[in-house]
Amino acid sequence: MIKVVFLGPPGAGKGTQAVRITEKYNVPHISTGDILRAAVREGTELGKVAKEYMDKGELVPDEIIIGIIRERLSQEDVKRNGFLLDGFPRTLPQAEALDKLLEELGMPLDKVIYLNVDDEEIVKRLLARGRVDDTEEIIRNRLRVYREQTAPLIDYYTAKGLLVEINGVGDINEITKKIEETLGLNG
Ligand code: AMP
Repeated sequence: MIKVVFLGPPGAGKGTQAVRITEKYNVPHISTGDILRAAVREGTELGKVAKEYMDKGELVPDEIIIGIIRERLSQEDVKRNGFLLDGFPRTLPQAEALDKLLEELGMPLDKVIYLNVDDEEIVKRLLARGRVDDTEEIIRNRLRVYREQTAPLIDYYTAKGLLVEINGVGDINEITKKIEETLGLNG
């Protein structure tokens, strides 16, 4: 069982690495960005609300996101195989809510993997990715939001002795290997 959070700026490669690890080790991949984009595509009430924020590169309100995570973490596959959280938590209130949820579930975090990539590289990667929410202005805003609201989680998880920093620049396979080593997986 793996119980891990992937932390890092947009474009750090969290999603790419998350897919590799979760497929190989059969762990539920919980990406709040993917859940929100699916809701937008399906035109649900959640999707309509979320789109307003996503289009500006702003964060969707904590209570909405925490509700999504509470429901997802209560499912059977999580009880069996754990979870890899990708893009959550992104604020201190989200991190505190996660602590509470995991305590209730009796499933404490193993590690928080912080994929670190410098700003210049991030902008380059996100522009190359060309997703609809990846225009230069929105990218700049997402980076500012990351710095102000999400980066404080680095200290939060360091203080808990959970944070492991991995350089997100370099060969993709090498980065996957480092993540596997950190999580005590065979590779
Ligand atoms: P991502 O794919 O993780 O970069 O997420 C895309 C967008 O979805 C973000 O820019 C936010 O608008 C929204 N989002 C995803 N996860 C969260 C979260 N944990 N809290 C708030 N908003 C989120």
